[in-house]
Amino acid sequence: MKVVLIGVGQAGGKVTQSLAQFDYDMGFDAVRGALAVNTARADLQNLDIDTALIGQDRVKGHGVGGDNELGAQIMQENATEVLDELDGRITTEAEAIVVVAGLGGGTGSGGAPMLARELKRIYEKPVYVLGILPGRDEGGLYQANAGRSLKTAAREADSLLLVDNDAWRGSGDSVAAGFERVNDAISQRVGLLFASGEAVEGVGESVVDSSEIINTLRGGGIASIGYASAEAGEDASENVNTITSVTRKALLTSMSLPNAVKADSALLVVAGDPERLSRKGVERARRWVEDQTGSMEVRGGDFPLGSDKVASLIVLSGIERSERVDEFMERATEAANSQGGTTDPDEFTNDQLDGLF
Ligand code: GDP
Repeated sequence: MKVVLIGVGQAGGKVTQSLAQFDYDMGFDAVRGALAVNTARADLQNLDIDTALIGQDRVKGHGVGGDNELGAQIMQENATEVLDELDGRITTEAEAIVVVAGLGGGTGSGGAPMLARELKRIYEKPVYVLGILPGRDEGGLYQANAGRSLKTAAREADSLLLVDNDAWRGSGDSVAAGFERVNDAISQRVGLLFASGEAVEGVGESVVDSSEIINTLRGGGIASIGYASAEAGEDASENVNTITSVTRKALLTSMSLPNAVKADSALLVVAGDPERLSRKGVERARRWVEDQTGSMEVRGGDFPLGSDKVASLIVLSGIERSERVDEFMERATEAANSQGGTTDPDEFTNDQLDGLF
């Protein structure tokens, strides 16, 4: 799937760069453009991708602190400028636009849902938000901001792909090392997803194509992604169990939003050397995902890669009714209340956004 990426805020810019780098290093060429937008000049200076500094008249390049309403407002005031920056990049070949942001901060938290809305007004293509949830040990303001941003992004975007900052962090990681590890994990998983939708010459018909990714996400709401791999035997018939066990591992232990398995739809991409991929294993794994998710809409396909491993990449869509999301929203609401805010995250509605900004 050919995509254009727009990172908003610090985390958004870093993850966008990391995704663009992975795609380039792997030679996939699925990322057709990458732009980082921020209100803080310093956060843009460390990036190698194209950048746009917005809101200088308001915050003089110093960022918005944790004020996500100001982040949304600045994005709205500068939407035309950002869209102009993007104009040359979003060509007809791009199949989706992905806005990337940390939901707990200010610029990305407020700016990403707003930008998604503006993009949807203009482009016919799907607009996705890749949103990062603050870890459990981050402060109340982050949780409260993320609660409001999550609700708004899920509504404005065609799908909100959520990554919980606690999902892939090592237990002994410092904050910085934790971010690095999570960013690497995001770029590998999401980078493979984009690449898996690219046509591969000379390979059979079970290869995934972009429309399957788009159709999996079509129901909207919240989505997650997971991945696991293992060494494979040289012969396909040896790998029936390997494929089912990496699929189990991906779904049960590696999702970007852990413990949210019930889904409206799903996509299972099995990657590996075509000679080593067992049809029986792939079909068995797909049926297992159907059972676990309770979804009758589990798409599947292969992603041929020259590798001696096999890997399962899983996307779940429509997971917003999961306990995990409820639990996060409770955390966010509690944090919002103890911030002295009036904001039940549920109240951050479209009308308010319209009226407020
Ligand atoms: P903004 O610049 O105002 O949009 O704020 P940030 O991007 O710094 O957003 C803060 C949120 O993003 C917090 O929840 C952080 O935990 C998270 N965050 C910041 N930097 C990174 C990063 O490099 N990787 C990841 N995964 N999360 C980050």
